[in-house]
Amino acid sequence: MKPSVNIVWFRRDLRLSDNAALYHALSSGQPVLPVFIFDQHILDQLEDKKDKRVAFIHGAITEMQTQLVSLGSSMQVFYGKPMEVFEKLVKQYTIETVFTNHDYEPYALERDASVKSFLAEKSVGFKTFKDQVIFEKEEVTKDDGKPYTVFTPYSRKWKAKLNAFYLKSYPTEKYFKHFYQQAPLTIPGLASMGFELVEAVFPSKELDQEIVRKYSQNRDFPALDNGTSKMGVHLRFGTVSIRKIATIAAGLNETYLNELIWRDFYQMILWHFPKVGKGHAFKAEYDKIQWRNNEQEFQKWCEGNTGYPIVDAGMRELNTTGFMHNRVRMIVASFLTKHLLIDWRWGEAYFASKLLDFDLSANNGGWQWAASSGCDAAPYFRVFNPYLQTEKFDKEFKYIKKWVPEFQEFTYPKPIVVHEVARKRVLETYAAALKPGA
Ligand code: FAD
Repeated sequence: MKPSVNIVWFRRDLRLSDNAALYHALSSGQPVLPVFIFDQHILDQLEDKKDKRVAFIHGAITEMQTQLVSLGSSMQVFYGKPMEVFEKLVKQYTIETVFTNHDYEPYALERDASVKSFLAEKSVGFKTFKDQVIFEKEEVTKDDGKPYTVFTPYSRKWKAKLNAFYLKSYPTEKYFKHFYQQAPLTIPGLASMGFELVEAVFPSKELDQEIVRKYSQNRDFPALDNGTSKMGVHLRFGTVSIRKIATIAAGLNETYLNELIWRDFYQMILWHFPKVGKGHAFKAEYDKIQWRNNEQEFQKWCEGNTGYPIVDAGMRELNTTGFMHNRVRMIVASFLTKHLLIDWRWGEAYFASKLLDFDLSANNGGWQWAASSGCDAAPYFRVFNPYLQTEKFDKEFKYIKKWVPEFQEFTYPKPIVVHEVARKRVLETYAAALKPGA
């Protein structure tokens, strides 16, 4: 006889506490089998076999496994294609329902639709829940039901709708006895999936409340280690609950809460306008821009050798740590698209390959904001001046000195382009593409 179970399928919600799908699965009555799939479709596209994110996920799964084993259960972890995994699972178990949390990315939506229809053929239910955002899809819309495309009115409505109900945590612990009991199963090693173990230190899961309290004063200064919370990677993979973080933010600092609202905003944009996640400008006319796309210049930007110290510091921080401060992300993205006139999609892809906290919606939102092609983006004539940005946010060159110690020496490259020349060039190029009838 095949064992009867319900499955909880973890994806970007790698925790056992305060997890919507897990809560619903555990309170359903059936024993719950936890499942995670290292998705070959995604992993095979990662060129860097020392990708720290794979190590991060592996670590998070291992931590969950330790918890599950102490509860007499085990996660069943696969390396494979989700459809093939579910084909195996339906042979192994009598499954009533698969529970999982929403993922708003185009690939995930297609994947879930095919898994759902496969399961339906086998008379297995597929129930999905909101978990990684406070408000999703159509929960915060204009009065006429249309999605917001401008942040400020969206955030106002978001805040007006917020109440304790939306921040309440799911008390999964109450039902932990409902996990399917079995001997520990092995988790595939990184090497078996073609990856190498990397030495990496990840930010703590505990949100430092002092950082949140002082966020408004400190958040724009990249030299400060504790200016921002470094919660990005945890929110990305769900190793912390957004409800927990938003509860702290709501009580302590509105500026910090606003950043979490940006996160919901971009997820909602991706859901309503999936074309942005498939390489299209939010404002279609911006797809007419004649990018220069000089490959050598792109290479210099990637390596942090543009001769603009603040840009180079940011790129070197990214290349070394997988993190870049938000202020500097804006500067380097503006520099690539405006100063070098390189397609924002090139920069977006480079960030996607490097950022520990890479998230399609926020990354795309950030890049299209910088290139002015996005919803609620910077107007195109706003061209960040890297020198003025340095004066405002790294006056004593502390951040620059950390990442580009040679910036005042002869060996440091000359600026790749003169600021004023670049500014004039980008204004002309954008104006030509955007003029009516272009
Ligand atoms: P904090 O400043 O402490 O903010 C707290 C949390 O709020 C963040 O962890 C993040 O989840 C959320 N948040 C903050 N700012 C934004 C924002 N502008 N948009 C959406 N969410 C936000 N953020 C990502 O999570 N993934 C990305 O791939 C990403 N790519 C970006 C690319 C560009 C070009 C730009 C300009 C911004 C990008 N951001 C991205 C937004 C932002 O830079 C990062 O969220 C932030 O720097 C992460 O550091 P932190 O965790 O210390 O953030």
